[in-house]
Order: sequence, then structure tokens, then C-alpha cells
Amino acid sequence: MQKLLHRTVERSAVADQTGLVASPDLVTHCFECGGRVERKTNQRYRYLESGLRNVWLEGITVYECRRYRDRFPEIRNIRKLHSLIAAAITEKRSALTGSEFRFLRKHMRLKAKDLAAVLGVTLTTISRWETGAERIGPANDRLMRCLYLFWRLEQREPFDSTQVFERLHTQFKDLGARPRVNQITIKANGLTS
Ligand SMILES: [Zn+2]
Repeated sequence: MQKLLHRTVERSAVADQTGLVASPDLVTHCFECGGRVERKTNQRYRYLESGLRNVWLEGITVYECRRYRDRFPEIRNIRKLHSLIAAAITEKRSALTGSEFRFLRKHMRLKAKDLAAVLGVTLTTISRWETGAERIGPANDRLMRCLYLFWRLEQREPFDSTQVFERLHTQFKDLGARPRVNQITIKANGLTS
């Protein structure tokens, strides 16, 4: 059912570019059992809907099913949230995991086959990277992060275009070869702007 919520969330984000998602009127009943929900503010929520297992939201409002305790987050600015997650991923100092790579691809709304064509690999390779069956490798890891920078420029997201080479040099020179999963915590008050 988290999938259903995610679809709802994505549809709302597309419909409303301000990113108002899962508004209080939307979550009146549990998405799982249809029962009553309880509104709880200032909660910590593991954001598995992102497709990542290491992302936590802090200080957000959650609707909790009274019967089975399923929890549904109120996310008011999903674009900002996903931008913050993407930034945390691309700035990490170790190799990307398959899930992180997939998150970036989806965040950029790239189809696997189109990304495969850009990187000069097969669709199967993209799939094996994303499931963790195959190592992404240092060149494609870096290329993916650079693609994300280009994408941000295209989206006209705030982007410091000075000394790009120096910053990439600093960021990439100590990039560990092995993927490491760092906890990513996003605070709700950072999502307001
Ligand atoms: Zn329920």
C-alpha cells in the first residue's frame, strides 16, 4: 500500500507544482484498512517510499492508523524534499549504491533506456547496477553526479556555477570505491521554502 501512497503523492506533486502533498483532507482514513487515523505532529518517519532505506524525515506530521498503526506522512513540498535527498546523495563521499543511483535517475525523470544510451551501456547494465548485482564503477558514478549537476542547471535550481572544477576535484578525490550507506536525515522545517 505504500506504493499506492507513493502514486498519490507523485500525482499530487505533478498536479500542483508547489508540491502540496497529502494534505490533511486527503488523509482522513487509513490507506490500508480504511479505518480511522490519528494525526501526530513532530514525528520521525522512515521514508521508504523514496526507494531508499536510509532516509529519515524529522519533525513531520504523520497520520497513524488506530487499528494497525500504519503510518502515512504529510509531505508538503515533495520537490524540495527530493532535491534535498538528491543533493545529499550526490555529495556523499563514498560510491553510490544501486538504490541511490536509481533515486537520482528517477528524480531526473530519466527512463533507464535513455540513461543507458547516454552512458553508453546496455539497459541490462543499468538494471544490474540498480539492483546491486553489479558495481557501478568509479567513472559512471562520477558521470551520474555530473549529469545531476547539468540537470539542476536545466531546472534552474539554485546552483553555484563558480569554481565547479575545484569543487568537483575536492569532492571526488576522496571518493571511496565501495558504496557506504549513510543515514540521510531531512528536517521538516527545511522543507518550508
Ligand atoms: Zn489501517
